[in-house]
Amino acid sequence: MKSPVTQILRTLHERYASLREGHLADYIPELTKADPDWFGICIATRDGHVYEVGDTRQKFTIQSISKAISYGLALEDRGEEHVLSRIGVEPSGDAFNAISLKPGSGAPFNPMINAGAIATCGQILNTGTETRIQRITEYLSRCAGGQLAIDEQVYRSESATGHRNRAIGWMLRNFGIIDEDPRDIVETYFQQCSLLVTCADLAVMGATLANQGLNPLTGERAIAHEYVDNVLGVMASCGMYDWSGEWIYRVGLPAKSGVGGGILAVLPGQLGIGVFSPLLDAQGNSVRAIRVCMDLARDLALHMFNPSAVPPPALRRAYNATQVNSRRRLPVDAFRTLRRYGERIRVMELQGALLFSTFEPVIRELVRQAPYCQHVILNLAYVASIDDVCLRMLRDIGKQLGDYGVKLVFCHAARLAKSLTAAGFELDVMFPNEDAALESCENAVLAAVMQDHRMEPESATLAECAIFADCDPEEIRLLEERMESISHAAGETIIQTGSRADELFVVTSGSVEVRLRLDSNRSQRLDVFSPGMSFGELAFLDGSPRSADIVAVAPVKCRVINRPFFDEIGARHPSLKAKILNRIALQLCERLRQANVEISALRS
Ligand code: GLU
Repeated sequence: MKSPVTQILRTLHERYASLREGHLADYIPELTKADPDWFGICIATRDGHVYEVGDTRQKFTIQSISKAISYGLALEDRGEEHVLSRIGVEPSGDAFNAISLKPGSGAPFNPMINAGAIATCGQILNTGTETRIQRITEYLSRCAGGQLAIDEQVYRSESATGHRNRAIGWMLRNFGIIDEDPRDIVETYFQQCSLLVTCADLAVMGATLANQGLNPLTGERAIAHEYVDNVLGVMASCGMYDWSGEWIYRVGLPAKSGVGGGILAVLPGQLGIGVFSPLLDAQGNSVRAIRVCMDLARDLALHMFNPSAVPPPALRRAYNATQVNSRRRLPVDAFRTLRRYGERIRVMELQGALLFSTFEPVIRELVRQAPYCQHVILNLAYVASIDDVCLRMLRDIGKQLGDYGVKLVFCHAARLAKSLTAAGFELDVMFPNEDAALESCENAVLAAVMQDHRMEPESATLAECAIFADCDPEEIRLLEERMESISHAAGETIIQTGSRADELFVVTSGSVEVRLRLDSNRSQRLDVFSPGMSFGELAFLDGSPRSADIVAVAPVKCRVINRPFFDEIGARHPSLKAKILNRIALQLCERLRQANVEISALRS
C-alpha cells in the first residue's frame, strides 16, 4: 500500500518533471555535467520518517546550502557575539557572489552570501587534531545522519576558476574580518561547497533543524540547541539569494538553495524538505524545486506565518477534592470533612508542550485560585515537554504560592523530575501518581480541620461494622459465634482476581487494599478498607469471579461470612439477612453517587 503522502509527492513530481525552464550552473565548469532531468523530492519528519519520490539518492554538490549549516558550527566555536561582530544578518539584495561588504567595517551583510560564508569559514576553528574542512564535514554529516565526502572534481573545478571568491577573501583579510592568509580559508570554502549530498540528506538536515538540532534518524545532537534559531533566522531572511523576500512571502519556510540544484527547507518544530533539480533560474535557484516548494507549502498548509493549528492549551482540566478523592475508603466523618473542605485541594491536569503561550493560562488560573486553596497538585502525566521559560515561571509562582501559604506539588513527574529539581523543587513534592498526591494533601487538610484527627480506628467489633449497624445484640451474638476469623500478614493476597466468590469479609483490624492488575508487573490501587468496613460484596452477591486482588497492607484481621452460613441466615433469620443486604445496598448507593460526582468532574 502506498502512503497518500508519497502520492502527493508523486503528483508534484509528475507535474513538474516536464518543466524544462532554466539552465545548468556553468561558472563552475564541472557543474555542467549534471543531467537536467534529475529531479527528486523528499520530506523528512521530525520523528525520522523519510518520504521520497524521484532521484532522491542521486548525489550532487551541496554548494551554498552548506553555508547555513556551517554558520551553526561557527556560532558554536566562537559564540554569537563574536560572530555577529564580523558577519551581519541583514539581507543584502545583491547577487550571491557580489563583492559587497558593509561600507566602513567591511563586514559581510550576512552569512548566506559568499563573502559572509567565506568569513564564516574563517571563524571555524582549526583544532590540533582536525582541520577546518574535517570539522565542517563531520558537522554536516551529523546533520545528514551519514558520512559525507567531497567531490574532488567539482572542488578542483571551482578552485581553478574561483578567482572572484579569492578576491572576496583578500577583501575580508584587508578589513580584518579574517585574521589569516585567506587562501586556505577560501580553499576550505570551495571544499565545503563540494560536499556530496542527496536530496534525502537535505530533507534529513532540514528535519534536524526542525528538531532543535537533534538528528531524528540517529538521535545524535548535530547542532547546539541554542543556535538553531540563529541558523533558521538567516535562512528565513537571506537563504534564497535575492529572491529571499519573495520566497518567505510565498512559501513561508526558512530555506537555503545552492547552485548544485538543491533546496533545503524547514518547517520549524515539524519537518524538513529536500528538493533537487539542477536547472536554475536567473537568481540561481532550482526552477523545479521552487515550484515544488510553493505547491507543497500551499497544498499542505506549511506556511510558517499562518499555522493551521495552534498548540493545545496546557490546562487539560481542573477539579478539587470535593469531587475527586484518593483511592481509599474514608471513615464517614473524614469523608464528610473532605466534601466540605475539599476545595482547599485543587488538581490541575496539564498536557502537551508547556511553552509560554500554552502555560500562561495555567499561571493565570494559579493566581486566581490562590486565595481559595492550600494545596495545588499539578498532574504532569500528559505533559510532553516543558521549556526553560515555563520552568522559570513555575519556580516563581511556586515560590509566591508558598509565601501565600499554598503548597505546590506534582504527580507523574518522573520524566521531568530532573528539570524540576534543577528549577529548585524538592523531590518530596513529587508524587508517583495522583492518588498518592491526593492522599498526602487530604491527610494535611484533615489533620488541619479535624482535631485529634485519626484516619481510622485501630480495630472494630462486629457491632461497629457498617453492614451490621442495624443488627440487635442477639444477631451480633449469632454472627460472633458463626463467622470465621482469618488473619493475614502485610503483603499477603487475601483474594485473587478471577477466583470464586464464596465469602463476604469485614475488617476488624489492620487494612486491606483493592488492586487492579494493569499488566504482569503493574497494578493500580482502587480502594483501601480499614476496620469496620466490608469487602468482597460485589462478587459475593452476583456470583461473578473476583474482579480485583485484595492485599493486606498491614497485618490484618477479618471476619468472614461464607456462602453456607449466608444461606442459613436466609432460611432461618430472614430479617437479619434483610438488614445486612439493606446496609450493603445503602453503601453501594453512596459509592455510586460518589463515582458519579467523580466521573462528571473528570469528564468536564
Ligand atoms: N561554491 C559556490 C560559489 O561560491 C556556491 C554558490 C552557490 O551555491 O550559491 O560560487
